[in-house]
Order: sequence, then C-alpha cells, then structure tokens
Amino acid sequence: MKRFFFLLLLAIMGLVSCDDSIEENIPNEEFSALNKENKKRCFTMEKLEDNLSKDKNLSSKMSVIEEHTMNFIKKGNFKRLANGAIQIPVVFHVIYRSSSENLDLSVLQGQIDALNEDFNLQNPNRGALPSEFSSVEANAEISFTIQQVIRVQNTKKRRWRPNDDMKYTSKGGSDAVNPQEFLNFWIVNSMPYKKGQVLGYAQFPGGNRATDGIVVAKNFVGPRARTATHEVGHYLNLRHIWGDGGCGASDYVDDTPDADGPSRGCPSYPTAECGSNNMTMNFMDYSDDSCMYMFTTGQSNRMDAVFASGGFREAMAN
Ligand SMILES: [Zn+2]
Repeated sequence: MKRFFFLLLLAIMGLVSCDDSIEENIPNEEFSALNKENKKRCFTMEKLEDNLSKDKNLSSKMSVIEEHTMNFIKKGNFKRLANGAIQIPVVFHVIYRSSSENLDLSVLQGQIDALNEDFNLQNPNRGALPSEFSSVEANAEISFTIQQVIRVQNTKKRRWRPNDDMKYTSKGGSDAVNPQEFLNFWIVNSMPYKKGQVLGYAQFPGGNRATDGIVVAKNFVGPRARTATHEVGHYLNLRHIWGDGGCGASDYVDDTPDADGPSRGCPSYPTAECGSNNMTMNFMDYSDDSCMYMFTTGQSNRMDAVFASGGFREAMAN
C-alpha cells in the first residue's frame, strides 16, 4: 500500500509539474487546429483578477484612478491637454526563438501605422459605420512613434504563458524601459491558455510599473492588426464594451450601448441585445480585426483623463 501511495503521489506531482509543459508538447499543426476552435482575443481581465489577488493595494489604487476619471469627465474640460495630439513613444521588446519570429522593423512600423490610423479617425474600414453611431465616433488624437526596438532571443521558449514572465530579463524576457514615459510593447511567439490562445493582454493604469504595457503574440502584430489597438485601449483605461458581464454590466462609458457579451466574427448590422443595437465595430469588442474600427467620444474622454493633471500617465502627455 505504501508503495502504491508513493507511486500515486509521484503521479500527481508529475501531473502538477508537467502542467506548464503540456502545451509545449503539442505539435504545431495540432495546436493551430485547436486554436481555430478556441480563439480568445484578450486576457486583460483575467490578468487583472490575478494582479488584484496578488497586490492588496491595487484595488484602492484603481478606485482612486476611477474617481479621478469621473471628476475629469464631470468637469468636461476635454481636448486638448497640451498642444494637440498626444505622442506616445513605443518601446518594442521582440522576444523570439527562431529568426522567423524576429519581426522585421517594417512589420513593427506597420503596427505603429495601424495604431495611428485607429487613434486618429483613419481606420480604412470606418466608411462602413452605421449612421446610428456616427455622432459618437471619436478622434482620440493619440499618435505613436517607435522609440526603441529591443530584440531578445530565447531559444528555450516555444510558447509563453500570459503571466508577465516576458517582462523580465531574469525570466528570459526583457525588462520594461522607462514605463512612465514609454509604452512598453512585448511581442512573444504565442500564448496558449486552456486549449485556446491569447492574442494579447494589457495592464490597466494603476498596476506595477515594472509590468506596465501590452503583450501581443507575433501572429497578431502588423500593418492590419487590431489586437494592439484593443490592448492599448485597456492600457488607457478602457473596459470591454459589454462591461465583462451581461446586460446592465457597465464599461463606465455613457455613449456605448449595453451588450450582453462579446461579439465574434464579423456581425452584420443591426445586432440587437439588451434593448439596443450592439456597437460590434467598437475596438473594445471582440469582433474580427477588419470589422472593428471605432472609439466613441466617451471612450476618448476616459483616455484623456489618464493623461490629464493627476492622471496615471500624465508624464506621457508632457
Ligand atoms: Zn480586452
């Protein structure tokens, strides 16, 4: 019996310790077949839950930021904080295993171009916007430039977990650079999670500066890629448009219609839920990249609050 229990214990330990490597052992073809069925856009809210459980002060820090945001919006003193558009310098951390994963500068510049389109009312698909939403479509007036590209080869990691390891040189990733003034943008080869795949995730204002920024898997980075737009939205304090709950859950924005959950694919207009038409084309929904192309005025105002005096990213605006 003792030997049986010992073997059982070993088996359990094996299961636990192998947990990290299960996904690493799935062949690539099988893995992509798996992902097609279980695609998941964003891990930001799960990561927030994780961070809240680890940092007991985070909740109150975020409450203070939310209060600041509400006061800023109440005052109605929008546009523009300094001189026109806010410029965000981006530090790319390209963490790659094989040379094909080491994204070319042209791909990174293409990603910057896409961000600049989306935050400056120049998304190529915005002509499809239903007239119902045209009055709230907003120019966020935020522009992005490449500050620095850091390339780190890690030959051991075929895949990453969305657990911030890539944000530390000591864990095979790359340390954040001046996160008060630069947007740190980590690119990893892939992020499998629970039989699906994470496209990207962001850290909301208020979190640890060492992990501040966004992470996107390399297949979702480039000239027509919109994952980074969504993640930068979170980074600038936007919530998912459905409020991460059913009808009635709030995204803290007044001009986005109530929704019962995320949209998938490319929904045709109108798609009604909770007594109104869904804004499926909003960057903070889960629609396909080519089918999302707008921020609202309310969302733009929330982002402005982050850069305003006393805002978490005030240093970036100056
Ligand atoms: Zn998200």
